[in-house]
Amino acid sequence: MTATLRPSPIAATIAFDEDGVRHGFLRLPYSRDDSAWGSVMIPITVAKNGEGPTALLTGGNHGDEYEGPIALFDLARNLRREEVSGRVIVVPAMNYPAFRAGTRTSPIDKGNLNRAFPGSPDGTVTQKIADYFQRTLLPMADIVLDFHSGGRTLDFVPFAATHILPDKRQEAASFAAVAAFGAPFSMRMLEIDAVGMYDTAAEEMGKVFVTTELGGGGTATALTAGIAKRGVANVLRHAGILRGAVEAAETRWLDMPSGDCFTFAEDEGLIEPLVDLGQPVRRGDVLARVHPVGRTGSEPIAFRARLDGILAARHFPGLVKAGDCVAVVGVTD
Ligand code: CA
Repeated sequence: MTATLRPSPIAATIAFDEDGVRHGFLRLPYSRDDSAWGSVMIPITVAKNGEGPTALLTGGNHGDEYEGPIALFDLARNLRREEVSGRVIVVPAMNYPAFRAGTRTSPIDKGNLNRAFPGSPDGTVTQKIADYFQRTLLPMADIVLDFHSGGRTLDFVPFAATHILPDKRQEAASFAAVAAFGAPFSMRMLEIDAVGMYDTAAEEMGKVFVTTELGGGGTATALTAGIAKRGVANVLRHAGILRGAVEAAETRWLDMPSGDCFTFAEDEGLIEPLVDLGQPVRRGDVLARVHPVGRTGSEPIAFRARLDGILAARHFPGLVKAGDCVAVVGVTD
């Protein structure tokens, strides 16, 4: 497949293979009305010191999720060559146009970067970013950490996560990195649809992969930003790339054993939460009610837990539409 693809149009303004800490850009040519020979300038930091593993750290895969960019702009500014063994590649805002717009998808092409892999060098701006990660950055990496949160429409209990994988050695290494991250919760994650995801691209290349869902609602909190900053340092220390010991933190393991974890709305209306994030639930408990808003006097629709566990995620806005994910139940160990 790769033999027939043309080279990526993206050029890095800094070297990947020279010792030192460098701040630069991934420059993506983007010709448009206000800049005929213009570019999208995606910030990147490369910190390298001698031989050793490479960590690829990303936030802003979705543009309205903020814990990752907070932790990674901070890390990029503070990395010192002498503290590094190997290499750290930091891209705090992967889908940079989406990040600048504060939206999940790109304002340029409506591209959802985390559904665009493996991407294309002659596709849209979002597809070109995916292709660059697929063919240039991911192959350099040994360990990949991609920060997510719920964005404007979801909110999560703070967790680091990875997936059940066919390669059990890769799976064990990934879960060890999740444990090292030290979020309040650690999730064995089930995806609704894994096609086109960065996660899948990294995992299919055999990388150790960690993702997160650290909060949401289109903002960050002091608590969740702190979890992100400690987590990324812990993952780098665990990998032997950053000097120092992993800062131990208690975590509770959660499982998503089946599609019964997810509850989707079938009607529109006003959502009334009956359980808050992190609270225990039993199968049959009402998680939320949706009140019809077309007229008074109509009965609300109850959404019930189909498993015992805790409320791990919820719809964030006050109004819900048919098809929206209302709630996710995580099963406790
Ligand atoms: Ca996300």
